[in-house]
Amino acid sequence: MRIAIIGAGFTGAQLTLELLRRAPRGTTILLFERSGIFGPGLAYSTVHADHLLNVRAANMSAFEDDPSHFLRWLWARNEPAAPAAEIPPSGHAFVPRGIYGAYLAATLAEAEATAHPRVVVERLAQAVEAVDETGDGVFLRLAGGAEIAADLAVVAAGNNPPLWPHPVGIEDVPADRLIGDPWDDATLGRIGPDDAVIVLGTGLTTVDVVTVLGRRGHRGRITAISRRGRLSRVHDQTRSWPPFLAPESVEPRIAAYVRRVRGEIARAAAEGIDWRSVIDAIRPHTQGLWRALPEAERRRFLRHVRPWWEIHRHRMAPQVAAGIERLIAAGTLTIAAGRIAGWGRAPDGVALRLAPRGGGAEITLAAAYVVNCTGASVDYRHLTAPLIRTLLDQGLARPDPLGLGLDVNDRLQLVGADGKARPRIFALGPPTKSMFWEITAVPDIRKQGRAFALRLFPNPV
Ligand SMILES: Cc1cc2nc3c(=O)[nH]c(=O)nc-3n(C[C@H](O)[C@H](O)[C@H](O)COP(=O)(O)OP(=O)(O)OC[C@H]3O[C@@H](n4cnc5c(N)ncnc54)[C@H](O)[C@@H]3O)c2cc1C
Repeated sequence: MRIAIIGAGFTGAQLTLELLRRAPRGTTILLFERSGIFGPGLAYSTVHADHLLNVRAANMSAFEDDPSHFLRWLWARNEPAAPAAEIPPSGHAFVPRGIYGAYLAATLAEAEATAHPRVVVERLAQAVEAVDETGDGVFLRLAGGAEIAADLAVVAAGNNPPLWPHPVGIEDVPADRLIGDPWDDATLGRIGPDDAVIVLGTGLTTVDVVTVLGRRGHRGRITAISRRGRLSRVHDQTRSWPPFLAPESVEPRIAAYVRRVRGEIARAAAEGIDWRSVIDAIRPHTQGLWRALPEAERRRFLRHVRPWWEIHRHRMAPQVAAGIERLIAAGTLTIAAGRIAGWGRAPDGVALRLAPRGGGAEITLAAAYVVNCTGASVDYRHLTAPLIRTLLDQGLARPDPLGLGLDVNDRLQLVGADGKARPRIFALGPPTKSMFWEITAVPDIRKQGRAFALRLFPNPV
């Protein structure tokens, strides 16, 4: 069997690892990666030592059934940026994301080198631009026009750059003043140390960008804006709190979920236990809770609860938070709450009109650059990446109705424009957010990858 995996970030690399363990004789894995770098993907390619994992090392193993694999690798490697002596047996440590990228690349390379000859991995440093179905397989069209045949294709194309919010008037702004890809270091490098900068968003991507600017000694004013003006919360040591929100134990309504979580936080607080332990105890059930909700309730969650959930669930490492606090205390970084009312050109860059939260007169903020940190775009209706566009245009895929990704079924097959599952085209990782909601962090994706490999090859070899 020939299995094409499109994308070798965490999702594609981890699926390859699982397949290498289970696939029967005669399996070929065609692993496509347009960057030519196999393993780290977007999240773990950063070269900045200040960009730390936002999940404890203890929870970052590439293997669901070998939870201490990453810790053992860290201890054995004893990297100067993550010395073994500073990583406690509990694994409560936040190491640089670049080190994690090196772990993924090394683990993948080792698994390939030691794999039984029954399974072959072909690395292809190519961008796939289209997937087509044939009677009993798929054809992949590569940038440049070549075509490659496979029995099935897995779209593991990952995170997309954010879309600009409220683009009214944005066409008047000089394009070189709008930094649309916050993960592109070269473009961020255009920002001078005295430039005023507006950052859209107050989540972990903003934290990344501000951390880089702070490390470079940025002196200009940085204003980070979001509707509510709330930064991600900070990690702290947690105690184990029993899972309490099994989907079958609660009415599938957002109000009922919120009531239960609030009650549980109050109960924990009365015992001297922090809210973080309670939020983490939801984790085993998060996907089930999402899947139990009817569409109207999911919409209610997105409208009312999502911002609260994001900042409590996706927290920043304490060292990173300390850097952000220093920038706020120095007056370099300001957090503003409001809605973008319009864009315009300013003498030396951009003028952004902000309608403050809670009312009051609009204010105009001027800056040399605006960086879009509103988070990876999951609204596939507006994506322009060739692979996604051709899948949508050919009707082989359709966006999910909530604008959260691609529509997939229980087996992770893409659902086409005609509402029918495509039997040989699958999606894993972030594009499947509509089905699972929490399918961003490593522990969720590795579980999905393992389950997928087990479905494909149920019998160990
Ligand atoms: C900045 C950032 C930091 C994060 N930090 C953490 C963390 O600390 N802990 C945690 O648990 N989770 C974290 N996450 C979440 C999570 O781990 C990532 O979302 C996860 O790595 C997703 O992996 P992926 O392979 O699906 O996507 P990506 O990392 O985006 O990789 C997709 C890959 O596919 C390639 N590709 C795309 N299209 C094509 C194509 N057509 N042809 C060929 N190749 C293609 C891309 O080049 C890319 O390498 C973070 C996410 C981001 C964005």
